[in-house]
Parts: sequence; structure tokens; C-alpha cells
Amino acid sequence: MEKSFEMYGEIIRNCDALLIGAGAGMSVDSGLPDFRGNEGFWRAYPPLAKLGIRFEEMANPRWFRDDPELAWGFYGHRYNLYQKVKPHPGYFILRDWIAHLKLPHFVYTSNVDGHFIKAGWVNQILECHGSLMHLQCMNSCGQGTWSMTESVHKKFEVCPKSLICKTPLPVCPKCGNLARPNILMFSDFDWDTSRNLRQHKRLSQWLIKHGGKNLLIMEFGAGLNVPTVRSFCEKAWLSFNCQMLRINPRDSQVANGIHSIRKGALDTLQGLDKYI
Ligand SMILES: [Zn+2]
Repeated sequence: MEKSFEMYGEIIRNCDALLIGAGAGMSVDSGLPDFRGNEGFWRAYPPLAKLGIRFEEMANPRWFRDDPELAWGFYGHRYNLYQKVKPHPGYFILRDWIAHLKLPHFVYTSNVDGHFIKAGWVNQILECHGSLMHLQCMNSCGQGTWSMTESVHKKFEVCPKSLICKTPLPVCPKCGNLARPNILMFSDFDWDTSRNLRQHKRLSQWLIKHGGKNLLIMEFGAGLNVPTVRSFCEKAWLSFNCQMLRINPRDSQVANGIHSIRKGALDTLQGLDKYI
């Protein structure tokens, strides 16, 4: 692996622009729970295991209509966790490379934990499934999205036995109706895409400017379960005929021409760091 790391280090040092794709595997290395498969999800949420509710069922906007206290118990608990846990050192290794090599860069992630933004990304990011750090109105009143930190909620009080939210539920500042996270859920026809579209626009402009150069795509922990990030990276790789590293300890298979590193995101970044 060291020999390969040396070679990959050279690819990174020689690229003109870096496109980072990140799936659940990137977050898991910070110590955040793995929701892939019922077992992992129910281990993280015993009250939902008792009720037999799977992740795909819970991540559905209907709960905000049918049982808002449970819906906010689930998302409030996750919000507390994302706030409490620090992004792992891998995020900061990437920031160091970008600064040191003066690399134009963009992140495309399906993670809703806001950890790239916590680690210093501001505009060079597309959160394709939205973010738990942002809210939207359930009533689609035209308010648009707003930041969770602008609302009164610094922390949610959640009953560990029932997963019911005890804190007053977040409401829309414009119409006073119930608010929900600005996350793309399953069977979600009311996701407010305004923030996402602004991010899309910035990504398109970035790709027009940097796609034709010596672009490098690094994809971290983007598996086959919900393949949004994986598909995006593969499409970009095909479109720009560039170099790509897939870093994935489980779903590491690649098309001919893509480099595969069968390791976790943090391990890989730490391993590569000495060659940058
Ligand atoms: Zn509203």
C-alpha cells in the first residue's frame, strides 16, 4: 500500500483541481453511527427497534404530520450528535493540502451532518441530500430555508426511551407553522430545493472553469446502498476523462482506469499525507 500511496501522492501533487465526493463512510470515521442496514440503525435507535421502524421508514416527511414529536425526537437527537461530534482529522488534512497546493476544490456530499462546513468549507460544497443544519417550513409558505443556528434550538431534549422530543418544536419564522429539516427524505415531494439549487449553480460554474484542466476526483466512503455520490463521481470521471481515486473499504470495485484504495477515509488521508 505504501508504494501505491507514494504514487497517489504524486497524482494529488500534480493535479490542477480537486473534486471531493463523500458518502456515509466519511462521517463514520468521525464516530457517527452507521445507518446502513437495519442492525446498525436499530443499534443507534433502540426505541425505533422496539417499534420495528426501519431507517427508510423513519426518514419520511410524513412523520412531521403524523407524529411531529417523534419526528423531531429522531432528527433532534441526530442534530445534537452532529453538533457534539467533531469532524475527524481527515477533513483538516484535505484543508491543508488545498491550502498548501493552492488547489481549486469542490465537495459533493450526501452527508447531512454539516461536517465539511464545520471543517471550513463555505461555498465550495454541494450537499445533495440537504443538511440537518438548515430548516424549512412544512407549510411551503415561501419563507425558504434558514439555518438551525438562527433558530432558538442549540440542543434538543429527547427522551431516550420513547425518542419523543421534549423541547418546543421549531417553527417557521414567517408563518409560525411547524418546521422540518431541509433534508431530502424518502418519498419527499416537499423538499425545499432553493439552497440546493444555489449549490448546484456554484458546482456547475466550478466544473465549467476547472473540469477541463488536470482534474482529480477523490471519492470517500460512497457505497452502493444510496449511490448518489458514487454515480456523480463516475459521471464526472467519464465526462472529464480525468484521474479518480475511489477510497472505500467495502464497495471498492471500480471501472477500468479508476484507482481503488480498499481502506477507510481517515486511514487513507493519514497514509497519503506524508507524500503531499
Ligand atoms: Zn412558513
